[in-house]
Amino acid sequence: MAHDEVNVRSAPKLDSEIISVISQNDSYPILEEKSNWIQIELNDGQTGWVMSKLIKKSEEADSDDNSMTTSDPVLKDKRVGTVGVSTLYVRSSASQQAPIIATLKRNYIITITNERNGWYEIDFNGQTGWVGSQYIINENSEPGSTQETIIIHDDTNIRSEPTTTSLIVKRAKNGEVFPISAKKDNWYEITLANGTSAYVASWVVQTSNQAISNMDSGSVQHKTIVIDAGHGGYDSGTIGTQGTLEKSLTLKTAKLLEKKLKDAGANVYMTRDDNFFVSLQSRVAISHQWHADAFISIHFDSFTNSSVRGNTAYYYSTIKDQKLAADIQSEIEKQSSLPSRGVLFGDYFVLRENKQPAALFELGYLSHPQEEAIVSTNDYHERVTEAILSGLEDYFN
Ligand SMILES: [Zn+2]
Repeated sequence: MAHDEVNVRSAPKLDSEIISVISQNDSYPILEEKSNWIQIELNDGQTGWVMSKLIKKSEEADSDDNSMTTSDPVLKDKRVGTVGVSTLYVRSSASQQAPIIATLKRNYIITITNERNGWYEIDFNGQTGWVGSQYIINENSEPGSTQETIIIHDDTNIRSEPTTTSLIVKRAKNGEVFPISAKKDNWYEITLANGTSAYVASWVVQTSNQAISNMDSGSVQHKTIVIDAGHGGYDSGTIGTQGTLEKSLTLKTAKLLEKKLKDAGANVYMTRDDNFFVSLQSRVAISHQWHADAFISIHFDSFTNSSVRGNTAYYYSTIKDQKLAADIQSEIEKQSSLPSRGVLFGDYFVLRENKQPAALFELGYLSHPQEEAIVSTNDYHERVTEAILSGLEDYFN
């Protein structure tokens, strides 16, 4: 993969704004060098930053005039990163429309081999694919300071191969730390003090990233979440232009959210887990019965004007509910493909009568034909449930 195009950024950081794209063999004056970045002057006099590994400096013996051209290809020092969301789609090319070729779980370690317009080309599991760069965290280019595994139980088995039946080469103590050189299935390949490689099961250890992310973001672990799938039974809710029933979409979304929250260690209760009618009073009673730390009500919208679209979060109490609604909506805004209509006051029974923190989410308009199609996809359900999970983590931080 040749770097026929190189991004020029406003600052020497991968998450800074792309202000221009330059082509291979173009030449620009160098103004400054800073760690892995080079500041150049563009033809219009603007200045910007490019990754130094993507370019080559010209070596004109007769001139002190430093300049550079974009070089080919290989990133000499490959960067590693970690998946920062619970499910990450890997696509065959750098486009939201490209086919999904794999999904990766949170904390999976990938190697970044290329970068284009907010996408990373990654190596994982012997394959290559593209992911949105915003979902990758803890990027690191410096060899030796890559991820570490932290032993959290005494007598953790360190093995010769990534299987539970292979030879135990060492028993590690709580608190011992080993650098991770690779990840194979659910095993970390680690480097022992004597320089040899060995394996430890990922499910019995923590990584340095996890230790960090546990500190700076909250967790839903041991929290009680009541998920309220709107409508049900004879109450179908709104009906889309193509006949989509709101009650079916709310249940499907609620069940996916239930799974993600349980996987993350939350205690989850559903106001309904099948297609039956539940009164609004009963829904609130379930929230009270379990002393919900958060009550999440899921709905889909409709309006007489079929051009109205987007998702909306509602709260009733500014004290009890608003932060919950806002924390989640800000993640929905980031992760869903629909426009956000914001966080609004809503006089809904399940919010007004609820003593527990509660928020209601209208996750898109079934009266908008295009939006009805989007919100019916698994991709959309993945995105919004992932967003609600992240939003809850922020809320409990
Ligand atoms: Zn509804």
